[in-house]
Amino acid sequence: METGFLSEIFSSFQGEGLFAGRRHLFVRMAGCNLRCGYCDTPESLVRTPDCAVHAPDGSERRVPNPLGVAEVSSLLAPFLASPGLHAVAITGGEPLLQSGFLAELLGTARPPLPVVLETNGSYPRKLRDVLPFIDIVSMDVKLPSNSGEAALWQEHREFLGLSVGKTVYVKVPVDETTLDDEVREAARLVAGVDRRLTVFLQPIFSPSEEMQISPSRLGRFYDIAAEFLADVRVLPQTHKLLGVR
Ligand code: SF4
Repeated sequence: METGFLSEIFSSFQGEGLFAGRRHLFVRMAGCNLRCGYCDTPESLVRTPDCAVHAPDGSERRVPNPLGVAEVSSLLAPFLASPGLHAVAITGGEPLLQSGFLAELLGTARPPLPVVLETNGSYPRKLRDVLPFIDIVSMDVKLPSNSGEAALWQEHREFLGLSVGKTVYVKVPVDETTLDDEVREAARLVAGVDRRLTVFLQPIFSPSEEMQISPSRLGRFYDIAAEFLADVRVLPQTHKLLGVR
């Protein structure tokens, strides 16, 4: 039996991507293999002794890690019984670091809703473990100039290729330091898989919630990406505008 380290469980409005504005149940897994300079969930980067459960009634409690599949299923049950949920979003951290646990969780107690995988797209091999249980893939493309990480072009390409057949969209965090060539390479990479995939240019915000890119740079990046792709959109993280988690 696998066990998993969680960071938090909560319900909120999806703030990113194709389903922004829908109410999702977020299952945030603990631990990440990257350390992006703009990361806005630093509390999820490492495994912790417990996780936070923000219940539908507004109460919060801490639950000890690691958790078994049955324990997580029972924690999710009250959320799944509440009306208006569109999907369950498996997020992180990088959830695929715990792909074995997720495969067991989703295979044993598949939620009665679509399952979204929010991922940094760096583990195509681990994706294979969970892909049968995933309906929607939300993959980030990490650009070295603003993530501070090494380029992951090959991993991202393989990851997207494996995801074809699911509902897929791509987010590309951008800021003023982002290079034209990176946006071009990201767009070319996605178009090489399917030029109809929706790509979101997502402005990076500072910890004090100031946008880190000018409208003119955003416009330029849009134009570059649109040379290769049929559906490019600019969308900030709307949950931050709403002041919700
Ligand atoms: S991949 Fe996501 S969770 Fe991990 S460091 Fe980057 S932004 Fe943070």
